[in-house]
Amino acid sequence: MLFKPLEDDTDLSTILCRALVMSFTEVAPGVHLIQGKYVEGFGYISSYVIIRAGEAIVVDPGTAGHPGKKTLDALESFGLNPRRDVAAILCTHCHPDHVGGAKRLHRSTHAPVLIGEADASILKRPSLFLKERLLLPPTGRLTMAFDRSPMRVNYPGIAPERVLQHGERLHIGDDEIVVINTRGHSAGHCVFYMPRDRILFSGDEVGQYPSDPRRFYVDLSGDLGARLEALDALAELEIDYLLPAHDVPYVHREVHAQLSGAADGIREFQQAVLRIVSSRGSADIEQICFDLTHAGNVSVPTGNPFLLPTTVRVTLHSLEQAGQAREDNGVWSPV
Ligand SMILES: [Zn+2]
Repeated sequence: MLFKPLEDDTDLSTILCRALVMSFTEVAPGVHLIQGKYVEGFGYISSYVIIRAGEAIVVDPGTAGHPGKKTLDALESFGLNPRRDVAAILCTHCHPDHVGGAKRLHRSTHAPVLIGEADASILKRPSLFLKERLLLPPTGRLTMAFDRSPMRVNYPGIAPERVLQHGERLHIGDDEIVVINTRGHSAGHCVFYMPRDRILFSGDEVGQYPSDPRRFYVDLSGDLGARLEALDALAELEIDYLLPAHDVPYVHREVHAQLSGAADGIREFQQAVLRIVSSRGSADIEQICFDLTHAGNVSVPTGNPFLLPTTVRVTLHSLEQAGQAREDNGVWSPV
């Protein structure tokens, strides 16, 4: 017989609980991947539960709807009490696809929600994401207001219990998590490093698009120089498990390929934008987006029409800071 028969007194919830255990994957020692919603291009949105000595921390609660209750079911299936044993809900950054479910998870666990300082206001007031973080024409703002995708912002926000500091160490059970404020993908973006087991929760700084490590987007508060610096610093860490906020984890040798691919992607994108501005003599963001999309020789962000112009704007500012481009009334030219 392949399966042990269930005892007569096994109730339905126990059976379901056992079945659920099978759908949570341990992707690093004591770290469980809770799969969220599938998004074209981005793969599955990933939440993680870290368990150390009877204590849990959730990294990125996911959207307003997913994984939702699945996270609570996971905690219970590991023998934890969600109302007592969750030490914190950590947010890598404030984007709706990763924090839409923060308030609901906080209500169920009473655990403090923590995020980098520069992203705290958007965690609290999600609609600011559209106003402050995406380059949207007025029609785009209207479109996004009725959006039902994971980027939608019509969910209740929550004020963080406190903001995370760069370099601080959070304790969980017998282990610790180091906070690194990377500031690339968004100004408040943090990654979380666990030195003992060499685990890095990379949020959206690395591995945003599972099909191509070079493909990326940043929001208007993002900083490509900071992102390159952060990727250099992360490459110095000993990392056996790279756990991004989208889709599959990377292990061992794949980790370095992801980090270097992410840095290559930024440089290639900067060069492509500069090439367009230089060859045209002057161009606005719409023109640059058109040329990038039709050139076909550089990875551009997909999945939402406003990510490309937003990323181009941030890239132009990085070129301006490097003294390679300048703006006059929305028109960019080489220096
Ligand atoms: Zn993001």
